[in-house]
Amino acid sequence: MFEKVEVDENYTRFPKERLHRFYVDILTALSVPEEDARIVADNLIIADLRGIESHGAQRLKRYVKAIEKGTINLRPNIKVEKESKVHALLDGDEGLGQPVSYRAMNMAIEKAKENYFGIVGVKNSNHFGIAGHYALMAVEEELIGVSMTTTRPLVIPTWGIEKVIGTNPIAVGAPVKDMPPFLLDMATSVVSTGKFELYRRKNKPIPEGWGVDKHGEITTDPDVVLSEGAELPLGGLGEILGGHKGYGLSLVVDILSGVLTNATWSKWVKNTDERNSNVGHMFIAINIESFMPVDEFKRRMQEMILDIKKSKAKEGKKIWYPGEKGALTAETRSKLGIPIYYKVLQEINEIAEKVGVEKLE
Ligand code: NDP
Repeated sequence: MFEKVEVDENYTRFPKERLHRFYVDILTALSVPEEDARIVADNLIIADLRGIESHGAQRLKRYVKAIEKGTINLRPNIKVEKESKVHALLDGDEGLGQPVSYRAMNMAIEKAKENYFGIVGVKNSNHFGIAGHYALMAVEEELIGVSMTTTRPLVIPTWGIEKVIGTNPIAVGAPVKDMPPFLLDMATSVVSTGKFELYRRKNKPIPEGWGVDKHGEITTDPDVVLSEGAELPLGGLGEILGGHKGYGLSLVVDILSGVLTNATWSKWVKNTDERNSNVGHMFIAINIESFMPVDEFKRRMQEMILDIKKSKAKEGKKIWYPGEKGALTAETRSKLGIPIYYKVLQEINEIAEKVGVEKLE
């Protein structure tokens, strides 16, 4: 059974249903409405199921901290500010990012089904978790899905030493015949911030090329990157390996999710535990039937992917396509349970104890 992340004796596995209930219980104990708590829990579970350890159980603490500080509006009055047959703009009213994103993607899906495509932007929101969750919602409806979000400024632009751009993730999903969906779900930085936090938690040096110190010099200390240093755009330092293209991609997300939505771009996005963090998102659903029958599209997707997978690989290596490892990991973890690292388990159990919810044993 395949898992994309190595799981050793420092992890304990829990059935996904048990973890889901645990998250919902904690969030509702903190006065999050049950329906919203379920959507947040879904996002955390999908992340861990697919092997995205940076955005599963580890992320709960950040949301809890913000809720306790009162920087998230738990009863947001989400307004539809603009709407046509194919687009909408929502004001998230400083609520949790996942519920408004779920609603926005569902709107995009409905519009795409009726009018060829749907595009829905969100302003005044918060951290929405993994972008792939929303792209997959469209795929489940046999549509192509795109989702993206601004983040806090954690990354330097090419040749800069000041953090003024975000890790701004993009996800694109599409259905494939008889195979797991295509799902490219990625930060536009070399890695997501959560991976630096994971390395710090495990007291491990980060690989060279992920981040820099405050002078713009490569460092392998995750603490340095997370404090006064910075993350690097996809492609890394300078222009030699295409760092300028990651920088450009991050700005594309800023334009669609931050400038166009009248939210703000990453330079001004605040942390979840600050008021008015003003994260912006964009969701797109494309109706495949506007171009060709869905079955034909899925067959063509399969053919394209197999063309690539059947090409020669380096000795001892295998060619994967985006979404494949995540889907196989989800299959394994649905059977064996979701592994939680012991320090994260301690953290989330401390939260449970504090809010009076049964701990994970
Ligand atoms: P990864 O680098 O782990 O993966 C990026 C993509 O590459 C995935 O689609 C993955 O598919 C695919 N992939 C991995 N290996 C291969 C391969 N050998 N061949 C082809 N495709 C491959 O992700 P990141 O670290 O960039 O991002 C992690 C998560 O963090 C994402 O879910 C993102 O949405 C989230 N994020 C959220 C932020 C927020 O503020 N809300 C900010 C930044 C990131 P597979 O899953 O199948 O391995």
